[in-house]
Amino acid sequence: MKIGVIGGGQLGRMMALAGTPLGMDFAFLDPAPDACAQALGEHIRADYGDQDHLRQLADEVDLVTFEFESVPAETVAFLSQFVPVYPSAEALRIARDRWFEKSMFKDLGIPTPDFADIQSQADLDAAVAAIGLPAVMKTRTLGYDGKGQKVLRKAEDVVGAFAELGSVPCILEGFVPFTGEVSLVAVRGRDGETRFYPLVHNRHDSGVLALSITSTDHPLQALAEDYVGRVLSKLDYVGVLAFEFFEVDGGLKANEIAPRVHNSGHWTIEGAECSQFENHLRAVAGLPLGSTAKVGESAMLNFLGSVPEVSQVTAIADCHLHHYGKAFKAGRKVGHATIRSKDMATLKARIAEVEALIKG
Ligand code: AMP
Repeated sequence: MKIGVIGGGQLGRMMALAGTPLGMDFAFLDPAPDACAQALGEHIRADYGDQDHLRQLADEVDLVTFEFESVPAETVAFLSQFVPVYPSAEALRIARDRWFEKSMFKDLGIPTPDFADIQSQADLDAAVAAIGLPAVMKTRTLGYDGKGQKVLRKAEDVVGAFAELGSVPCILEGFVPFTGEVSLVAVRGRDGETRFYPLVHNRHDSGVLALSITSTDHPLQALAEDYVGRVLSKLDYVGVLAFEFFEVDGGLKANEIAPRVHNSGHWTIEGAECSQFENHLRAVAGLPLGSTAKVGESAMLNFLGSVPEVSQVTAIADCHLHHYGKAFKAGRKVGHATIRSKDMATLKARIAEVEALIKG
């Protein structure tokens, strides 16, 4: 079976690393000459709207999937005429736009911060009056890793904020005084079978994921599964979906969903019986899903900008390096490590060892 992937970054690369043993071949459509997934499959170097090359991809593969959600809607609609695409155009339409996403949470009874649609500075002024400060303003589309957003703390921050974010459609969200951030990675097959990985605790630094640690018997696991299950059913979803939540007042508030394999699920490569990458491929290919049970305690640390000395990372016990083969650039995700242990105390000590390498 040949899988077409829109996007050829590290997520596509790790998908191919998981799918190759299943006998799958890969083609990646990505305009970047140095797309790092090309080491693992064919690279169709073209823009996401290039219909000739999209047609070429569709002709070559059995199905198409995505490694990022900001794919133009026309690209998905065009491909869908010729080849099955998973997740669906509708799932991507909702997930790529924060207004549609939050409106869906509300319709499904999933708690989320107060929010308002912002099309102008006047909309923003009215929304601030209704929601109050502090609040977070975010572009409706194309924001990621804390980009395309601004925290509004005092009245002066509101002045000119619409122009500051590019005078594009935005939402305003109430600021959530969260005690923690968790995410749930789930997978749903073509037949509707659904499995959930354990909740992970996430630490973000400047809006970018830095550390994920798995939980054991988290008291909010069942609630999170209920919320995520509602979204998966509503979207008749096929593939892996990640759902990010704020922990607040002993409950959960929905932040956002990612209709794809997710950075907070990278630990599953070594930390779960079947990784998010393999399970995504199993789901889209119509294969039986693999076990989402974890094996021991695991954590994932991102390498931003550069990867520490390989010999030093691999010297740490049960520490598994993933080097994406990307050029080093400040702030760029260029690798990660999965750290494992049978017990939490040892895990924390090993995390500290890797963090010391990151700090150099
Ligand atoms: P996002 O791109 O929406 O995932 O936001 C990036 C990070 O900003 C989140 O992981 C939070 O740490 C923080 N953040 C986003 N929205 C809010 C909010 N409404 N209240 C408080 N913090 C937020």
